[in-house]
Amino acid sequence: MTEIADRLALVHARIRAAEVAAGRAPEQVKLLAVSKTMSPTAIRAAYAAGQRDFGENYVQELVQKADLLHDLPDVRWHFIGHLQRNKVKVVATRLHMIHTVDSPKLAAELDKRLEAAAEPLATLVEVNVGREAQKSGVSPEALEQVLQAVSEAKHLRLAGLMTVPPFTDDPADARPYFDRLRELRERFGGRSVLPELSMGMSADLEQAVAAGATWVRVGTAVFGPRGRALP
Ligand SMILES: *Cc1c(COP(=O)(O)O)cnc(C)c1O
Repeated sequence: MTEIADRLALVHARIRAAEVAAGRAPEQVKLLAVSKTMSPTAIRAAYAAGQRDFGENYVQELVQKADLLHDLPDVRWHFIGHLQRNKVKVVATRLHMIHTVDSPKLAAELDKRLEAAAEPLATLVEVNVGREAQKSGVSPEALEQVLQAVSEAKHLRLAGLMTVPPFTDDPADARPYFDRLRELRERFGGRSVLPELSMGMSADLEQAVAAGATWVRVGTAVFGPRGRALP
């Protein structure tokens, strides 16, 4: 097995163990491999090991990689970064899911650029549960109007909520923020309206699974540290 295949197996084992510990039904939590800064070769290695969902933070990088990897027809690209409205046009039709819609204007722009798409784009609304000034994501108070905008967009399909908690050294600190996202899901229609909760990364995926995550977004635990050159 390659190094990446080994790491993927470890991450899957962590997710399964966390599901068991939380008393959740198995295989409810999906793994998004966060491939930002990682080479197409590294992505191919993960693909060869069975991974299909990849998350990118930057438009240009996603477009380049999607082109270089177009021979992998069932790769699914997820956008997890801050999306500027003037970049929507180049990326919208390449996406399987967007995790980071945080304003009615962004929802409207995506809707417009997806007019010719065969299917509506699965859309998560990013919530700034930690209320950090420098972070993107909508505040809990303004969430309802973004949910409304996504619901009304013909070419978007409202699929759930996403959050990035404040950074801390202790993964346990993230748990209250994950709980808060799940509470917001309950307040705005529950599982039937917002089936997906995208939360948890390499350091705190166990806390996120315990709190009800359906997608964990994992970069370094799959690919190794960023900034190190991969083959
Ligand atoms: C980079 C990133 C991740 C993955 O972080 P790791 O700590 O490497 O697992 C997850 N979500 C978002 C939004 C990111 O930007």
